[in-house]
Amino acid sequence: MPTTAIIGGGFSGALAAVNLARFAKTPQRVVVINSGRPFGRGTAYGTTRNEHLLNVAARNMSAFPDHPAHFFEWLRSRCDFDSLDDATLRETFIPRRIYGDYIRGLAAHYLGDADPRSNVTCEVIDDSAIDIEPRGAEQGGVVILENGEPVEADSVLLATGNQPPAGLPGANKLANDRRYCGNPWMGWHENLPGDDKHIVILGTGLTAVDVIVTLRRKGWCGKVTAISRNGMLPQRHFRGIEWPHAVPDDGQARSLKELVRLIQQDCQRLRGVSQNPAIAVDKLRGRTQQLWKALTIEERRLFLKKYAADWNVIRHRIAGPIHDAITDALDCGQLTVRPAMIQSLAAGEHGIEVHMVSGEGQEKTIEGDLVINCTGPKSRFSDSDLPLYRNLFERGLAQPDEMDMGIAVNDEFEVLDSTGQASSFLHAIGPILKGTLWESIAVPELRQQAYHVAQSILNQEPMEIPTKDTLEYCI
Ligand SMILES: Cc1cc2nc3c(=O)[nH]c(=O)nc-3n(C[C@H](O)[C@H](O)[C@H](O)COP(=O)(O)OP(=O)(O)OC[C@H]3O[C@@H](n4cnc5c(N)ncnc54)[C@H](O)[C@@H]3O)c2cc1C
Repeated sequence: MPTTAIIGGGFSGALAAVNLARFAKTPQRVVVINSGRPFGRGTAYGTTRNEHLLNVAARNMSAFPDHPAHFFEWLRSRCDFDSLDDATLRETFIPRRIYGDYIRGLAAHYLGDADPRSNVTCEVIDDSAIDIEPRGAEQGGVVILENGEPVEADSVLLATGNQPPAGLPGANKLANDRRYCGNPWMGWHENLPGDDKHIVILGTGLTAVDVIVTLRRKGWCGKVTAISRNGMLPQRHFRGIEWPHAVPDDGQARSLKELVRLIQQDCQRLRGVSQNPAIAVDKLRGRTQQLWKALTIEERRLFLKKYAADWNVIRHRIAGPIHDAITDALDCGQLTVRPAMIQSLAAGEHGIEVHMVSGEGQEKTIEGDLVINCTGPKSRFSDSDLPLYRNLFERGLAQPDEMDMGIAVNDEFEVLDSTGQASSFLHAIGPILKGTLWESIAVPELRQQAYHVAQSILNQEPMEIPTKDTLEYCI
């Protein structure tokens, strides 16, 4: 029986397995290798906290690109939402842990033993994959687990998600210090200082927001300082309007300069009719990957340097109730945001010292009774700390993409080896394609990848997904 090993069991890995089960016409074995978290939840949907909401409305969170209303219909099957009418439920930002239940439910349905018609048998192994050895003349590879066990497979899918956060200077000396949390997804709740104390959050993005809303939900009343280079907090979601695309869809490749001009003009037009300029970015969502791929490497680098921070704040918005909680924290003086470059961390007499430099070049040190690193995943791959990628690069089975933000793949999600040749057995999907596609981290893109990669692994002709109903669903 052909075997596919899927490394990573978050949304991407789970949905790839589910789609293999949906499309397989002959018996297949699927082995999911997933470490540290329950299968199907991953980092985002592994939270058990009810205040952590999706940052995409329910109408856009179907796991299936060929069935855009699937999540909404699943929610309708739960009594929790009986009080909401359909229109309201579609616009609701559901707790992420419930989304995790949805994915686990799909996995149980498609990959369990209940359906005698299923062609897939699935096994989940709780361990880390640290290496892949090619099988030589025989197609496929042998995935090596941390416990030393080999998993033989004809195809291997890399669905490992984001890398853990990068270490900050001085942080390695704080590894055993309870006042420092280097990975916000690991428990810091147990180490909360008293209400008269100070928590410093490194970062002001979505992860920092998760921490702030949890502190408030726990009724913690101390002070919080959040630091990031630009000092920008995520914006609030809003209901968009019918609006033409900033960039005409005429198949022409456009330079970064021209794209910036067109988008800025569009933002200006939107402001002129008292509309949120973020609509210009939202409307491009379905074509962002195509526009990114048409840029030169120099243009992509320039985009990252000059425009990405603004783009991210506009693009990655948060649910209304979450934005309200953050605004309250600011208004009542609990939360202060500082724009500054974090230089280093050190254990101080009372707390953890955070050394930083402000935009005006002034050096400053503040102390936190608890410091939480929310600076986001490490982006560079060439010096990845993950043994799996170090080994794949050393073997020449994979190479970092040209932006060094993930690994290089072709349009069929086949991994490119060190010579640029497409692998015969190794595929990759998920946030590790960010350098290749830019927009490759959220469900609207990942469900498409999971759908297409399953067909590619099964050597089936790609099935067209009707896009008519799905144009607005991304935002
Ligand atoms: C806090 C947060 C909130 C988010 N909210 C939303 C949202 O509301 N809507 C949305 O569309 N997107 C959201 N996202 C984006 C999110 O990244 C994607 O929706 C999706 O969850 C990514 O899934 P993934 O499977 O690719 O990666 P992950 O969820 O990171 O899963 C990867 C899994 O692989 C495992 N793994 C990694 N390496 C190995 C290895 N070597 N061996 C074995 N296992 C391994 C990891 O332990 C992990 O369980 C959010 C992201 C975060 C971090």
